Amino acid sequence: MMKGVFLMLGGNLGDVSATFNQAIALLNASSVRVLRCSSHYITPAWPDPSQPEYLNMAVEVEWDGTPDELLAITQSVEHELGRVRSVRNANRTLDIDIVLFGSKLLDTELLQVPHPRMHERLFVLDPLCDLAPDFIHPILGEKLEVLRLSLKNG
Ligand code: ADP
Ligand code: MG
Repeated sequence: MMKGVFLMLGGNLGDVSATFNQAIALLNASSVRVLRCSSHYITPAWPDPSQPEYLNMAVEVEWDGTPDELLAITQSVEHELGRVRSVRNANRTLDIDIVLFGSKLLDTELLQVPHPRMHERLFVLDPLCDLAPDFIHPILGEKLEVLRLSLKNG
């Protein structure tokens, strides 16, 4: 079983907290097991802060398949929940990104892991550090908490 797999959930349309709960239920109903959840964080929309603010959370999952198979599941969960809640969107009911897949490095057209901009975003590092402050970023070689603090303190 593969541990140290972290997903970022985000959304800014509808009842995002309820959407997160549905997403977790759908993941658990597939073969992705949600182990732990961060707090929910309210964050300004990026890159356009005039858009509705986002709710973000990180989850750690246990997963026995490949990264591509995990992406297919997270995208089907996005699709299922997006379709229920909204017809047109620039803003999102739900985005699920694979931010870390253990210490695996992936750089394909479909999937870049670690997420290439995770270390530049407090809305990723804040929730992630609830779960894994001592996890070492597999490219940068620093603990997530160190990356978070250096970003926060500019
Ligand atoms: P974004 O999350 O960047 O706002 P989308 O959710 O629309 O945009 O995803 C666009 C594409 O990003 C997906 O089709 C997927 O193939 C690709 N992608 C690359 N790396 C990742 C990753 N680590 N997690 C999720 N999607 C990724
Ligand atoms: Mg995405």
